[in-house]
Amino acid sequence: MESSNRKVITCKAAVVWKEGEMLKIEEIQVHPPNSNEVRIKMLFASLCHSDIITFNGFPIPLFPRVPRHEGVG
Ligand SMILES: [Zn+2]
Repeated sequence: MESSNRKVITCKAAVVWKEGEMLKIEEIQVHPPNSNEVRIKMLFASLCHSDIITFNGFPIPLFPRVPRHEGVG
């Protein structure tokens, strides 16, 4: 049986593309995990205050960004 852990997968994600923009629900491509990572099927994710302030580029203006640190998988 071939594992999906070794394939690029397509997922739905809420993406922020630019500083100050709102989330857009899109399909994204997710690369297979590296040897020190695991792939978890995310079932739910909430937004917290930390996610919302990152929309404005705080503390690091890193875009595109998928806020998800409070997910359940
Ligand atoms: Zn949080």
